[in-house]
Amino acid sequence: MSDDLRRKLTTRVVHAGHSVDPVTGALVPPIHLSTTFARDPSGELIGPYLYARAQNPNRQALEVALADLESGAAALCFASGVASLAATLQALEPGSRVLYGANLYYGSRALMERVFALRTDLSFEPVDLRELDHLDKALERRTRMVIAESPTNPMLHVIDLDAVIARAHAAGALVLIDNTWPTPLLQRPLERGADLVLHSTTKYIAGHCDVTGGALIARDPENPLWHRIADVQATAGAVPSPFDCWLALRGLSTLAVRLRAQVDNAEQIAAWLDSHPRIDKVHYPGLSTHPDYVIATRQMSRPGAMLSFEVSGGVSVAAGVLGGLRLIGRATSLGGVHSLAEHRYRVEGPDTTTPQNLIRLSVGIEHVDDLIADLAQALEGA
Ligand code: PLP
Repeated sequence: MSDDLRRKLTTRVVHAGHSVDPVTGALVPPIHLSTTFARDPSGELIGPYLYARAQNPNRQALEVALADLESGAAALCFASGVASLAATLQALEPGSRVLYGANLYYGSRALMERVFALRTDLSFEPVDLRELDHLDKALERRTRMVIAESPTNPMLHVIDLDAVIARAHAAGALVLIDNTWPTPLLQRPLERGADLVLHSTTKYIAGHCDVTGGALIARDPENPLWHRIADVQATAGAVPSPFDCWLALRGLSTLAVRLRAQVDNAEQIAAWLDSHPRIDKVHYPGLSTHPDYVIATRQMSRPGAMLSFEVSGGVSVAAGVLGGLRLIGRATSLGGVHSLAEHRYRVEGPDTTTPQNLIRLSVGIEHVDDLIADLAQALEGA
């Protein structure tokens, strides 16, 4: 198919990063396991590759696909989502100050607060990015980067991306948006002016809970920070395996249909939970009662397939609901075809600000009636 016919995102997810293998004619890309690539007798490399840590055809195909889908200029893939963030932080100039959304994914905060803040001279400050005057105040001190995620994990706060990006840029800071939850199909941070997008490809991109991976996508490949991140990728070597890249690219082909089914289910489940007598609160930006509904509607094409809810009766009842599920899996992670539920308090520990009675639900592609029936019997029995 010629490039000018790859206009719609739902077409691009199927074809991005794919080309017919010129040697065999294979339609499905081969997996290149070779760690090293040959030179001719004069010492010139025969092809464009040297050594698999530096680049590999499967990784390159995934990088081309993700840059295309996020409307970025370039992408770099890593061994996990947090490895992508670690590479970004390693590439910052010594002494850089980073502001991050106070509600960012727990593991991203742990990486900054437990690993980087204690072992490097980078400094970090959490800011509630829904409060723009807090951001303005924090930006008064010289900041190199603002890191945000929207909707946030697991509270589903929606951050006004346009406002955050404009303020950060006016203060001379770069903006990195973690777009793992909405995916490029529902939210377009680079088109809104963000400098970098981060993905845990472990989630929706690969989509089947069988790959761990991460990626960064840049709006401007000439940005000196991007060159340093590329250097960290190849030199520090937190790179994904060829097979993981192959699996992620295969998963990506079905992202549009998976996500459509998942969001359809999530919308119905959120509405059902919202009227259930044993539920105190539902956090889902597709509900018109969600405090950030208007912003979500403006910056997301649909509200996504993640939601969380607070069970009345407290922590033990929430644990009982989780324990009573028979179809929905009890496991961490998200974005796969199987629905998964998790009691975040037990994962994040007693210091967390996440409500103790909160259950997070990653909605899969099962029939919605079965998912609702499972939630109904678990709530009934708890
Ligand atoms: N970003 C978000 C929003 C996540 O939810 C996660 C994991 O849950 C990550 C990043 C980290 O990804 P990984 O587990 O691939 O390192």
